[in-house]
Amino acid sequence: MPDKPAKRPKERKQKRPAKRRLGLAGRVALIAICAAVVATLAQWIATPYMAQGEVRTQQAIAVTSGVNLLADVSTLHVRAGHWNEIKDLVDALSDGLPGGQSAVFDANWQLVAKDGSTASLPPAKSLEALVRDPKAILNAGDRVYAARAIGSPDSPMGYAVFSFAPRPALEIWMAIVMLNALVLVLALAVIAPFLIPIARQALKPVTDLERGIRKRDAKDKSKLADSSDDRLLKPLLAAVDEVHERSEAAMRRALTLAYTDPVTRLPNRLRFVSRLDAAVAGGQGLFLIICDLDRFRQINVTFGPRVADMALATVAERLRASASQLQLGGFFLGRIGADQFGIILPVAEQSIVGEFLMNAEKAISEGMTLDAQPVRVTAAFGVARAQHDATTGADLLKLAEVALKEAKGKSGARRAFFDKALLAKAHARSKLEEELREGLERGEFIAVFQPKVKLETGELVGAEALARWRRPDGAIVSPGVFIPIAEELGLIQALGKSVMRDACFAAAGWNSRGIISSVAVNVSPHQFDDPDFVNSVYQALDDSGLPPQLLELEITESAAVADADRVARIMWPLRNRGVRLAIDDFGTGHSNFAAITRLPFDVFKIDQQFVRALSTDPHAPAIVEMILAMAEALGQETVAEGVETKEQADFLLRRACTIGQGYYYSPPLPAAEFDAFVRSYRPKPADRFAA
Ligand code: C2E
Ligand code: MG
Ligand code: MG
Repeated sequence: MPDKPAKRPKERKQKRPAKRRLGLAGRVALIAICAAVVATLAQWIATPYMAQGEVRTQQAIAVTSGVNLLADVSTLHVRAGHWNEIKDLVDALSDGLPGGQSAVFDANWQLVAKDGSTASLPPAKSLEALVRDPKAILNAGDRVYAARAIGSPDSPMGYAVFSFAPRPALEIWMAIVMLNALVLVLALAVIAPFLIPIARQALKPVTDLERGIRKRDAKDKSKLADSSDDRLLKPLLAAVDEVHERSEAAMRRALTLAYTDPVTRLPNRLRFVSRLDAAVAGGQGLFLIICDLDRFRQINVTFGPRVADMALATVAERLRASASQLQLGGFFLGRIGADQFGIILPVAEQSIVGEFLMNAEKAISEGMTLDAQPVRVTAAFGVARAQHDATTGADLLKLAEVALKEAKGKSGARRAFFDKALLAKAHARSKLEEELREGLERGEFIAVFQPKVKLETGELVGAEALARWRRPDGAIVSPGVFIPIAEELGLIQALGKSVMRDACFAAAGWNSRGIISSVAVNVSPHQFDDPDFVNSVYQALDDSGLPPQLLELEITESAAVADADRVARIMWPLRNRGVRLAIDDFGTGHSNFAAITRLPFDVFKIDQQFVRALSTDPHAPAIVEMILAMAEALGQETVAEGVETKEQADFLLRRACTIGQGYYYSPPLPAAEFDAFVRSYRPKPADRFAA
């Protein structure tokens, strides 16, 4: 395939020069200018509107003054009989009042004189009406008219009419606008240079305050509102204080959430690691302990997440109590994983750490009653020492993990201090894990078979399938090495299924040839985590054609007792199908007889250590006898493991054990060799009466 073209780095957006933004004073000045413009605009509209009445009054005064003058002077002339003077009067008036128009009529409304204007006069009727009301004026066309009687109004000798054309309203309005605009521009030109400094000066308290707030030390907790008595600013500052307090509280909450484990209220991994980093980087001598709970997933599955959370909180409490018992100052505890706690112990002596671990291990493993249910938790501890083992927090954590892995593999006191040899061991283990994965893919895991013999007659009654890892170089690895690793890596389910199928097919083959009857297969408790486990057993039986009665599943006593209810839940359907169940390695677990009797078992397998000890340990015969008596009482079959000698077989038969398995009869054999062994087998009956 052609290589994909490498992604082009994102083209950077061209940076535009940042726009210069107006400052507060600039903005206030701008607002002032806008306000002035708006006010001027409003004035342009309002002034002509409001001046209309005044204009009309002025027009009335002008036209009334004109007509009065014309009428009064005409009266004088007419009384003196100088009608011929009227024409000169009209002309003189039109020169004196430009834009005015004068006309004089005789008593019969015959025109006597009229100035040179071409404008036509309104009809005589309208003029007569005007005469009757001396205050009236008439708007006709674009002119304003007034009329008065010459002489006495009661017996007029003639009529004077005066009119003029006022300037158009638009012209007046335009004149106002122009004038206002001119004034505004001039005013702005004069004021503008002072506007920003004035605004700046006026806003100085606010800008000073803003600068003060920005420069404020983050640790300064004083209230801003206390820094001003200004009537306007104080409530504003109080509001800023309130918002600040609220955002600080929200920030504190967010930080708490980000760094705290909600279940145990302990610092979470993030906070723990940062504390560890700081302490180690500061050159502090300390021990880092990782406390890892065993099979915690099982507690989750069995009791549910609520109880599991309670168990975690209880463990945290017990760890804390163990530290305070020793009065360990500077002790820092955090939850660093789902089932892991991290502990920083700033002490110099390893012995103190040892003492703490002993207390903690004991405290954790004490029973708990959570939600009215008995829960037991155990833990393993890995320890690394700062400055001595590593000089950074991250390295120290890694090394404590290495030590933890060692501790997890231990029985008894499950705690380990890091040392260099563990690192090599850890590398070897990682390699082994990788090879195990590959081996499973390549089908390197096979079943070998060890016969089970009826003690009394020596006849073969079945076989136990035992897993072996046949490495590519021919080396055989025993299950004691790889089963725990497969369990830890979650590979046991695939491995168990493969052994189960091998065993069922082998036993079906023997059965069809009429040789030995049943086959026993070991089941790891981890296989119960697989929801498909029961089905996979049915599948192996169906595919091989082996009758279910000929399959026996072996569960170790410790696994059976650890989670009896779950074992019962899973085993009952299989048992109902006819599959037989055996308790393996009986006597090695923390025998809980009440739990065992609740379980649907058919067979007890006595652990080989008791059989081996028969000749060496004076108590062993009594223990074996007790187990056998119990099995007999429960009506169960008994198989003794690890029978290596005839004496052991004889003793077991004497004590009513029914079946034996061990090197005395045969070691586990590959399927092909097992067939040959069966064909050449000569029964070895035990002797009940042997001394
Ligand atoms: P186990 O089920 O108790 O198997 C008996 C162990 O005792 C086998 O060890 C067997 O080889 C050994 N043995 C038998 N007779 C004698 C004897 O006379 N003397 C001595 N010293 N040992 C004898 P092996 O095969 O190494 O298996 C060890 C354990 O590994 C088994 O103990 C079983 O718990 C587990 N295991 C084996 N195969 C499987 C498997 O397929 N699945 C699971 N989950 N566990 C398995
Ligand atoms: Mg077994
Ligand atoms: Mg066993």
